[in-house]
Amino acid sequence: MSAVLAEIENLSVAYRTENGRTAALSQVDLAIEAGKRLAVIGESGSGKSTLALAITDLLPNDALVEGEIAWPGLPHLPAPGRDIGFVFQDPGASLDPVLSIGEQIAEVAKNHLGFGWREAYIHACDLLERVRIPQPEAALRAYPHQLSGGQRQRVAIAVAIAAQPKLLIADEPTSALDTIVQREIVSLLDRLVSESGMALLFITHDIALASGFADAVAVFHESRLVEAGAADEVLSRPSRAYTRLLIDSHIDLATPPLIEGAQA
Ligand code: ADP
Repeated sequence: MSAVLAEIENLSVAYRTENGRTAALSQVDLAIEAGKRLAVIGESGSGKSTLALAITDLLPNDALVEGEIAWPGLPHLPAPGRDIGFVFQDPGASLDPVLSIGEQIAEVAKNHLGFGWREAYIHACDLLERVRIPQPEAALRAYPHQLSGGQRQRVAIAVAIAAQPKLLIADEPTSALDTIVQREIVSLLDRLVSESGMALLFITHDIALASGFADAVAVFHESRLVEAGAADEVLSRPSRAYTRLLIDSHIDLATPPLIEGAQA
């Protein structure tokens, strides 16, 4: 058994709304294991993004929160951007259009790893190579609009892992991409986890996409954690009817295994 990085205990979150409150998470218990890939699966509105915001302590100030998140795998409370990296659905949301790609990655390394600019640029170039951006030295000088959607997402991943976080949260990182590029990005995340030892929390509504690489899955429905456990067990022998329904309606059993292929 691997070490627990974060332990979510009896977590409930509600948002204040004009008509009262919306429950976004209800009494959730969930462990995030160090170095493992946890897929958080559920339909839109089931509470997945709220979970990510709660983990990173970025919920809106007026959200009502009960329960606890403990970090036995860290010596201190996590700092977003340093101990926890984020990748969002739209890389445009995390990349600055007026800064070169090199500047954006180097800035993170400078701020969080204490590198000087030169060292930070060498680190940035290395990261672009790791996320398989062709001609990384030239790409350092490029701007986001000069890249394809898939390449922008690769750069956003490089920015997210630049401070060598212990946890990478990817919130629907492939939803805006076409199917082939989706699989390439998932495959890239999968490899980065193996290489770096960071944990990955992969949020998706697509159970088929998650089933190819997750070590563990957590299925959410209407703010509740319906089922969680090792991916092969939950996906082959779900104990809850809702999980079975998701699997039957989404998994294409003919889907080939993930292979990291051509550039996105
Ligand atoms: P998911 O990521 O699975 O789509 P969310 O965590 O975004 O789900 O949302 C869970 C519930 O909380 C939904 O009913 C959503 O409408 C509500 N919600 C999310 N963010 C807010 C907010 N800032 N204010 C009010 N309600 C919100």
